[in-house]
Amino acid sequence: MPKQSRRDFFKISAALTAVTAGVTSTKIKAESKDYIPDKAMGVLIDTTVCIGCRKCEWACKVAHDMPTAPLESYDNRTVFNEMRRPDHTALTVINEFPGKELDRFPIDVKYQCMHCNTPACVSACIVKAFHKHPNGTVTWDGSKCIGCRYCMVACPFQIPAFEFDKAIEPDIKKCDFCFERTKIGMLPACVEICPNEVLTYGKREDLINIAHNRIEIDPDKYENHVYGEFEVGGTSWLYLAGKKMPELGMPDLPRATAPGVSESIQHGLFAYFVPPLALYAVLGGVMWINKNRKNSETEE
Ligand code: SF4
Ligand code: SF4
Ligand code: SF4
Repeated sequence: MPKQSRRDFFKISAALTAVTAGVTSTKIKAESKDYIPDKAMGVLIDTTVCIGCRKCEWACKVAHDMPTAPLESYDNRTVFNEMRRPDHTALTVINEFPGKELDRFPIDVKYQCMHCNTPACVSACIVKAFHKHPNGTVTWDGSKCIGCRYCMVACPFQIPAFEFDKAIEPDIKKCDFCFERTKIGMLPACVEICPNEVLTYGKREDLINIAHNRIEIDPDKYENHVYGEFEVGGTSWLYLAGKKMPELGMPDLPRATAPGVSESIQHGLFAYFVPPLALYAVLGGVMWINKNRKNSETEE
């Protein structure tokens, strides 16, 4: 992670001052990411063939140098006794639900960042620590983050997780779509390891066609809905399932893009009301200074 310099500090201080000062005359402009490039990639998750082996959870941790138990221990299915969420210790998790009526198989569902086409986290972040790449990936840059956690509030899928157990330089953790792997032509680690071809990596537009074809061929097996095709403006990760996704732990969301909502909130709250934003900016500056003071002390 690149270190912050004194120049960066002045840049951020200036930016915060400008934001604070400018609010009286202009509305804050949250970044809009409506543009979906042709080369946007995605993953189609066919939950009807997932066996809940959780190899994807293990491979994700290995690919990101995160602590993990041995692969054999992932056979323990007692983890399905409670619902889990991706957090700072696991960027993706599997939950299990009862199957459809007359169906003896449970339904296993994988969760991770959805890499929204118009990401609320990107829009909400005032220092642009989140970035949407042309291939669809949404990444987070720790060298820019001031730890305000506004992204956590904005995300409609409740994905960004904060390292609460880390006193010094806590990070925001979320699936990065294995950006370091895909940019050199490798598959995301979870896609590569999946033994049942639950996860299909490809162009988002192609995946949508594949998904609709599967529904057409086997309408009794699937709900007639590709989750993520339109939700909050569309997402890079898409789901097929035998039940409605809100019954499988995913939120029931409108087509309207989430940033539109978060921008409205930002604008409504801050455009004509300086004190909260000023306080927010000052707090951000203080957090940034403290973070860098700790860095200097560590280096000394
Ligand atoms: S799911 Fe949340 S964290 Fe991921 S891109 Fe969308 S808004 Fe950002
Ligand atoms: S794409 Fe990479 S970071 Fe995201 S869940 Fe899969 S393995 Fe983890
Ligand atoms: S590796 Fe594939 S089959 Fe196993 S839990 Fe993950 S998505 Fe399901």
